[in-house]
Amino acid sequence: MDSLSVKEEEELRNAQIKLASILARKARVEASLDLVASRHKLLQLAEDRVSTLPPARNDSDPSAATVSSKTKKGRGTVTSTSGVGPRCGYDERLSWEDEKLERWCEKDHSQAILKEELPLDGRLDDGTPMANGTASPAEGASSASPTSGGGNGTQQDAPLICSTAKRRCKRHADWSIVRGADFEVEREAQTQALSRLADEERDAAILIRELESIINIRRDTAQKAVARKKEEDAKRDAELAALLARGGTAARKASGPHFNL
Ligand SMILES: [Zn+2]
Repeated sequence: MDSLSVKEEEELRNAQIKLASILARKARVEASLDLVASRHKLLQLAEDRVSTLPPARNDSDPSAATVSSKTKKGRGTVTSTSGVGPRCGYDERLSWEDEKLERWCEKDHSQAILKEELPLDGRLDDGTPMANGTASPAEGASSASPTSGGGNGTQQDAPLICSTAKRRCKRHADWSIVRGADFEVEREAQTQALSRLADEERDAAILIRELESIINIRRDTAQKAVARKKEEDAKRDAELAALLARGGTAARKASGPHFNL
């Protein structure tokens, strides 16, 4: 009886190991989905911030100056926008690797930003002070560093924002659409992976329940068999005893008539 249960118990152990591995993978995919959600949120916050950035000035933008002097054709358009123009505004966090973004997301300050309790921090990569007070160096140093002790960090540590004029930034052309599509592809892939893992989890759980049930039935049957055998043994012993007792009488009885004969 035991060789059968041993086989099923081994299958049960394997199924339990498999389920644990599925759950671990599921947790990783769920973490990835959280990260994608944070990226989406950062993207939206960075998009909203573009219009609040101090406008790009051509005279303080060396890359813009080279571009405008290179192209004669461009000069005409440049003069029309030479005073001010919107910045690219790309936030470097949108390119961060998973690990780096995960570390950032773990901070209370970052969570507050993602929940829109705090405005999106950052500094323009050309050193232009931000119009928004929360991201200005003075504000960052006075309000954040004594309390948070590295949560917000000093303004020097704040993530970089591309300061290039929007129409001149080749690196981040259409970043809002491009990164938005990237994150959507990632979210779709992770959602599908999660759905597959949920199926695997359900199958593994069913298998475990079936095996447990088989093992329990078998254990129960075995226990009953043992009990029945004990009962039978006891019964046989009793019968034997009775038979022996009767046998003694029979012998005496047998001897009686024999004497009588
Ligand atoms: Zn840019």
